[in-house]
Amino acid sequence: MTATLTADLCVVGAGSGGFAAACSAARLGVRVILLEAADGVGGTSIRTYPNGDLNMNPLHLMTGAEAFELGSRAREVAFARARLHWHLLQTRYADTFGAWKRTWMSPALGVRETHRLVGRYVLREQDLDAGLAAQDHDDIIAIADHSVDFHGARPSRELDGPYGIPFRCLLPKEVDNLIVACRGASFSSIGASSCRLSRTMMVLGQAAGTAVALFGADVMQADPHKLRNQLSNDDAAPSLAHGWLDVMADIAPIPAHERMPRG
Ligand SMILES: Cc1cc2nc3c(=O)[nH]c(=O)nc-3n(C[C@H](O)[C@H](O)[C@H](O)COP(=O)(O)OP(=O)(O)OC[C@H]3O[C@@H](n4cnc5c(N)ncnc54)[C@H](O)[C@@H]3O)c2cc1C
Repeated sequence: MTATLTADLCVVGAGSGGFAAACSAARLGVRVILLEAADGVGGTSIRTYPNGDLNMNPLHLMTGAEAFELGSRAREVAFARARLHWHLLQTRYADTFGAWKRTWMSPALGVRETHRLVGRYVLREQDLDAGLAAQDHDDIIAIADHSVDFHGARPSRELDGPYGIPFRCLLPKEVDNLIVACRGASFSSIGASSCRLSRTMMVLGQAAGTAVALFGADVMQADPHKLRNQLSNDDAAPSLAHGWLDVMADIAPIPAHERMPRG
């Protein structure tokens, strides 16, 4: 049986960004279709389910180059390493993980860094190092502060403070009527290593859904001030809701030992 669905916005993928985009657009009255290939929403986000189950992403299992070399064996080798990782957690960190039982493993490999768009602006290491105080973009719609984090594949380091992500990172250079609000957006490899966290992708998704609601077919020419005002009114992120750069400029970076575990 086939059915014809019509909508104003089609969101492909219900990961951190897509799910937030669909929800924020729908909440503002846009008719949305959300397409998801897997049997649930959430994508690669780490989360605790309402019943208390823990969804855990293991740390780095293999490089992309190794996965290509291993070909069809890559999945089997990655799974063996994931089981070892779990064993290590249960034995070395028994106080935290000893009581948990492993019940399920994702059927697919999660690729941390993959294809990305070249958009109207590319978020780069220079933005991360400049930080909010020195960035002069007028279309910043999300704030991030995670370290430059390659999970052992390349050297990692902490940042001095938070930086902003411009809306133009979500807009393809050459394709009209398409917004990319996920870890495939326009970031350099170093930029992505810091900003790709679930929480940041959710804020990008909210910005994309909100932009569609505000500007419709003219979304590629979105007025950044209107968009930021709406996000701020909707409490998109605490930093947006409380006056933006004015507040952020005074915030000292979180000391390394107080930061959340790397993602
Ligand atoms: C192994 C791993 C560990 C991580 N650990 C952490 C962590 O601890 N903390 C943290 O904050 N971040 C972590 N991250 C990063 C973060 O989870 C992701 O970068 C972020 O959640 C990605 O969000 P996204 O919006 O790009 O969507 P994704 O999570 O990539 O989800 C994309 C969704 O789109 C769907 N999809 C793909 N193609 C199609 C299609 N053609 N049609 C329909 N649906 C489709 C997929 O099934 C998926 O559900 C980790 C990432 C990985 C891979």
